[in-house]
Amino acid sequence: MHGCFWHRHPGCPKATTPATRPEWWQRKFDGNVERDRQQMDRLIAAGWRVGIVWECALGRKADGALIDRVEAFIRHGRDLRAEWP
Ligand SMILES: [Zn+2]
Repeated sequence: MHGCFWHRHPGCPKATTPATRPEWWQRKFDGNVERDRQQMDRLIAAGWRVGIVWECALGRKADGALIDRVEAFIRHGRDLRAEWP
């Protein structure tokens, strides 16, 4: 699970930047994104496959279609990484 704000979901309206101290926020966000990339690379290098569910993919109710897609990735997927949406 990635929160869209903290992990900077590309193109997502939830990935806003606060108006105050924009340079500080940009450094914080850049660090988060770089750390995520490094962690994903380490997991894949260790033989794991990585699926990211972005916060905005989740509604207030359980989304059966999303659950099915994640389950298919886990059970049958061949890609090393996937993201939803
Ligand atoms: Zn998002």
